[in-house]
Amino acid sequence: MQIEVFREEAVRWLKTTAVPRADIAGDAPLVWGAGSDSVAVFENTTEEEERLQAERISDWQSTKFDAGYGAIAWPTELGGRGLTPAHEAAFRAEEAKFETPGFNELFGVTIGLVAPTIGIFGTPEQQQRFIPSLLRTDLLACQLFSEPGAGSDLASLSCRAERDGDGWRITGQKVWTSGARVAHYGEAICRTDPSAPKHHGMTAFLVPLDAPGVEVRPIRQMTGGSTFNEVFLEDVLVPDDLRLGAPGDGWKVALTTLGFERGLSSAGGGGLGGSFRRLHALSRQLDRTTEPVTRQQLAKLYIGERLLSMLGQRARAAMEAGGPPGPEGSVGKLLWTQNMSRTSDLASTLLGPRLGADTGEWGTFAWAEHLLGAPGYRIAGGSDEIQRNIIGERVLGLPREPRPAAP
Ligand SMILES: Cc1cc2nc3c(=O)[nH]c(=O)nc-3n(C[C@H](O)[C@H](O)[C@H](O)COP(=O)(O)OP(=O)(O)OC[C@H]3O[C@@H](n4cnc5c(N)ncnc54)[C@H](O)[C@@H]3O)c2cc1C
Repeated sequence: MQIEVFREEAVRWLKTTAVPRADIAGDAPLVWGAGSDSVAVFENTTEEEERLQAERISDWQSTKFDAGYGAIAWPTELGGRGLTPAHEAAFRAEEAKFETPGFNELFGVTIGLVAPTIGIFGTPEQQQRFIPSLLRTDLLACQLFSEPGAGSDLASLSCRAERDGDGWRITGQKVWTSGARVAHYGEAICRTDPSAPKHHGMTAFLVPLDAPGVEVRPIRQMTGGSTFNEVFLEDVLVPDDLRLGAPGDGWKVALTTLGFERGLSSAGGGGLGGSFRRLHALSRQLDRTTEPVTRQQLAKLYIGERLLSMLGQRARAAMEAGGPPGPEGSVGKLLWTQNMSRTSDLASTLLGPRLGADTGEWGTFAWAEHLLGAPGYRIAGGSDEIQRNIIGERVLGLPREPRPAAP
């Protein structure tokens, strides 16, 4: 289907299903004071609010899915529309002009990371059982990778899975698990063969989070909310049909999921937090657009956003040509977090002490949530330093950094 024909059809559907946003009118500058002024990177919500928010996002995702707009680039056999990532991008651009419940990290992980990983490593039965439900977000899945002793060096993880009859018994601790309070499953990487070299002795599982022995403890973040958690697993029994990939293939599964994660970030993280458009509107409102420093910061941010958008187009073109997510995703992830830092810096330049206390003025103190949340993404999904290592070694072909000698 021609993209423009698809776009027109999608706009007709959106107009009958959602309300156009009040704060934008075509490509004109943002309308000051209209709509929500939230630029939060992480929501400051209670558990109940987090659940209600997840329900709202899930309702919108299932409405889209049922109408053929929820899994545009997925094959029809798995509930998708069988179109291309470019069709998907066209829909997203149009959807952004309407009021919707937005998106959060758990939905990005469910749709953008876990579902496509099952698409690669899942058995045909697992694909039919999970993918349509994950894409429709009837099921939500989080990422059980990091541990207290394994972050950047994920292959050091020690959460164990041991054979137990026909299934597996999992014991260990995961940490920083986004959305675990609300998720139904977690994609867990566990050590199944401690005697094998560390990258070989791992296996991936889809762990039901309501299984006996799973305990989720929220971690309070500096933004006030608890979007991520510790997850304790104590003798959790998991049937073998929830193993993802062959025993010992856990590292391959993890790298695939992390590749999708970088791809998602290089697409701009689903538009989390503030943007050039909002800061431009703020600088106009404060009558600061003639200041040279403000102009320079605005220009840098605009260029950064354009570059990220072009990089996203290039990644989509590579995917359409059948390529897997490559190390180029690291460039996008880095550019995205740099844009977030530039956004926070310019908000600070413009607002100064107004970020310290809430006067109730629309579009001002709200930026404090951006400042406190943005640094998190310089760590999540592989820190800036790790992305630079990947770019140096796998994109530029520079010598590898020294690895500790094997014991
Ligand atoms: C907001 C947020 C959400 C997250 N969500 C999830 C989730 O849902 N699931 C999940 O499994 N994990 C999640 N994480 C965890 C995240 O993946 C880890 O925090 C990350 O991989 C870094 O690991 P670490 O915190 O153990 O830091 P460390 O690995 O201990 O790193 C500490 C510092 O050392 C630097 N460093 C480490 N190794 C190198 C090296 N080789 N070269 C140069 N510098 C290096 C790092 O860049 C960092 O600055 C989340 C983290 C955040 C912040």
